[in-house]
Amino acid sequence: MGLKLYNTLTKAKEDFAPLDPARVRMYVCGPTVYDYAHIGNARPVIVFDVLYRLLRHLYGADRVTYVRNITDVDDKINARAVRDYPGVPPVEAIRELTESTYAQFQKDVADLGNLAPTVTPRATEHIAEMIAIIERLIAGGFAYAAEGHVLFHVPADADYGKLARRSLDDMIAGARVDVAPYKRDAMDFVLWKPSTPDEPGWESPWGRGRPGWHIECSAMAWKHLGETFDIHGGGIDLVFPHHENEIAQSCSAFHTPIMAKVWMHNGFLQVEGEKMSKSLGNFVTIRELLNDWPGEVLRFTMLRTHYRQPIDWTVRGMEESWRTLDDFFAIAADAEPSGLGAGVLEALEDDLNTPRAIAELHGLRQDPAALSASLQLLGFLGESAQSWASRRPAADVDAAAVDALITARLAARKAKDFAASDRIRDELAAMGVLLKDGKDPATGEPITTWEVKR
Ligand code: AMP
Ligand code: ZN
Repeated sequence: MGLKLYNTLTKAKEDFAPLDPARVRMYVCGPTVYDYAHIGNARPVIVFDVLYRLLRHLYGADRVTYVRNITDVDDKINARAVRDYPGVPPVEAIRELTESTYAQFQKDVADLGNLAPTVTPRATEHIAEMIAIIERLIAGGFAYAAEGHVLFHVPADADYGKLARRSLDDMIAGARVDVAPYKRDAMDFVLWKPSTPDEPGWESPWGRGRPGWHIECSAMAWKHLGETFDIHGGGIDLVFPHHENEIAQSCSAFHTPIMAKVWMHNGFLQVEGEKMSKSLGNFVTIRELLNDWPGEVLRFTMLRTHYRQPIDWTVRGMEESWRTLDDFFAIAADAEPSGLGAGVLEALEDDLNTPRAIAELHGLRQDPAALSASLQLLGFLGESAQSWASRRPAADVDAAAVDALITARLAARKAKDFAASDRIRDELAAMGVLLKDGKDPATGEPITTWEVKR
């Protein structure tokens, strides 16, 4: 069938063919390292890891270059360093903050079963490339220096807006542009800005300063993948202005019609039906979840939703994933992998249709070798069946028995036999199983979820 990917640039699913048949090149925007990564940040990491694994399977592991950058210079980083490292010289505080945050990120995403990308470039190690691109943009009439800043002049780029396809008014609102006296046009965005002595800064033709966020990715993609490459990915929130601006910079500097051929964006993740935010108290870090759940449970929960759809992250979803994985581990973890399920591969080749691939996995239960090979392609089965089974804190809890008791308890409650329902609850509690009653959001029917007390 061949690989098909949805391209945000054309708003269509397209047949994929690498620009250079000998090498597939993919760039994904990585984290800005100032705080623990949340479970939403894990989504692009997992989604593009599955694509990376699929590309390696289709084209050969040594032919795929996957670049995921680290944004280690940013005003949010500066502010956090000042707050968290009082008395430490700012440049040192920034280094400590970014290094410890990135070490934690690497650990988090490895625990979620992700392969390390081929290259993980740091923005601060690509300042020379950023300056080189900015100089080309100025020479070509696409950018201008003013008061220690360098700005990209949006009206100079006739193709601006090609990715986001929004009206000018929408773009102005979306970019939350500041009106600064040195700007020639409200849409113009910063390529370089001056730094105070306390802020990180590098010497440049425009004085000591630091880069804007967008130029960082243009520079790192250029250095590691060239002027044009195959796939550029990130979360849907990055389409505008970040990716639009990357395209404007790279295509104007290199006089190329495209930066990347395919632009892919994952949908957003929300938690228990609400937007994740610190003020709502439902901001979940990967690290916290990993205290309670195996990484493969989190990975499986992520892949049960197609990457372009929004995902509602729930405890119930994680419980279901754990039970499914228990089953898959018992069947396949100790089998010799061979003969990838054809349906699994076909589903993945269809714009990374992971929910369909998972449905196909269920159909492979009679074929442990194929189930094992297919799960491994998706980044699962990182341990033996025995080691997996020991992850349940109370390994003697029999999920089927618990489900049967819960069904009996729901029936008792429906019949208003509360003595019986309480007795069943106590029986489950004695097994270490805690119940949570709720309603199915889709049907309004009462449902009960459970977890093992840890
Ligand atoms: P940031 O560190 O905020 O730049 O985000 C790093 C990556 O995570 C980007 O690709 C974002 O699009 C993505 N991301 C951030 N929040 C979410 C979310 N709630 N759901 C899905 N992706 C997200
Ligand atoms: Zn980027």
